[in-house]
Amino acid sequence: MNPWLAAAARFDEAAARLKIDDGLCKVLRAPSKEITVNIPVLLDDGRIEVFTGYRVQHSIARGPAKGGIRFAPDVTLDEVRALASWMTWKCAVVNIPFGGAKGGVICDPMLLSDGELERITRRYTAELMDFLGPERDVPAPDVNTNERVMAWIMDTYSMHARHTVTAVVTGKPRELGGSRGRAEATGRGCMTVVLKALERFGLEASSTRVAIQGFGNVGGMAARLMSRQGFQIVGASEADGAVYNPAGLDIPALIAHRRETGSILGFAGGEDLPREEILFLDCDVLLPAATENVITSSNAGRLKCRILCEGANGPTTPLADEILAEKKIFVIPDILANAGGVTVSYFEWVQDRQGFFWNERLVNNRLEEIMEDSFDAVVGYAETHKVNNRTAAYMLALDRVLSAIKLRGIYA
Ligand code: NAD
Repeated sequence: MNPWLAAAARFDEAAARLKIDDGLCKVLRAPSKEITVNIPVLLDDGRIEVFTGYRVQHSIARGPAKGGIRFAPDVTLDEVRALASWMTWKCAVVNIPFGGAKGGVICDPMLLSDGELERITRRYTAELMDFLGPERDVPAPDVNTNERVMAWIMDTYSMHARHTVTAVVTGKPRELGGSRGRAEATGRGCMTVVLKALERFGLEASSTRVAIQGFGNVGGMAARLMSRQGFQIVGASEADGAVYNPAGLDIPALIAHRRETGSILGFAGGEDLPREEILFLDCDVLLPAATENVITSSNAGRLKCRILCEGANGPTTPLADEILAEKKIFVIPDILANAGGVTVSYFEWVQDRQGFFWNERLVNNRLEEIMEDSFDAVVGYAETHKVNNRTAAYMLALDRVLSAIKLRGIYA
């Protein structure tokens, strides 16, 4: 259940199959830099509180480090390490010129005012001034951070740099150099790889039933785009429960219901279920898009889907992988399935550096092309090396990162 150990298990398997030299394995097993900051922040009531934050840069072999920042009470260094290494592999799977990083601050945003959140963000950014930058490390939103937080990071960094540096973060508001299509990108990427998987099964979107765990940025957007594409979204869940309709949920109506009531529960067009039941619905595609470690060795046997598309990072434990393989479930692993977000972040970084912005059609077309090519590369690798899709994605990524390291050489 420790995400860093889960990440290490997948790395070790891919490294063993690729017969990688022990020394090079050591280079990639440990993150290249781990920064811990203890940041004093003035609270609204006049007290000073000290918050602990992390930034882990796993690898910069292929380019600047890239990865989100999360604000949550349960952030741990191991979690940030795991997420940073997943970013290295994810960027390599979709072949964009970034390494991997992740950041986090231990705090509970629900208990903090806007002013307190802004002061935490700005001080965290100032402490990391020497480590961030368009050529060094480019953060993005993650759990409990959003475009407003990215705007504060951009502004703080720019104030210290003495000029405006939009390319220091991605996921910014459009007015400050954000990209068109970024908000939909992860959900759109999930849909693109699911459509590719359907081709292999000879299935059409209109006859494909989808269950989605988590109705936030990734899951909610995937639901909206997939229902528009003709998929039947038979179930959706949130932290407080699930809603189910075997004939397909009316997604725009469900979104309107949640906007009005604050919950997806009590929706007239479906029946309420306990939240765990979403995983065990009779469906063709299951899309976990909430948190880590939801598919484990104790529940994987009950899954009924044919395709598992991992919208969330690390939703499946290594032991559950074996059960999914026995059940012949076609897994689209997280480092491929949810890479649409970082791909459009890459487009944002490119546009900021060019000072020239693309229209939404161009963003979406380029995203789809990268996701389709990456799907073919991973599945092709799996077939050539007779391994499952997850191992193939790690092997492909490792191969690419290692070639960069070998070409650069080990300095001094
Ligand atoms: P989010 O906060 O917008 O949405 C998460 C949703 O999950 C919330 O609606 C929450 O209510 C729900 N949830 C929490 N626990 C749940 C549970 N046990 N059962 C059902 N629902 C539950 O976050 P997000 O940005 O959509 O990210 C979701 C996952 O996708 C995370 O693992 C994140 O790291 C990953 N991810 C996000 C992006 C992105 O672009 N946002 C990109 C790649 C990966």
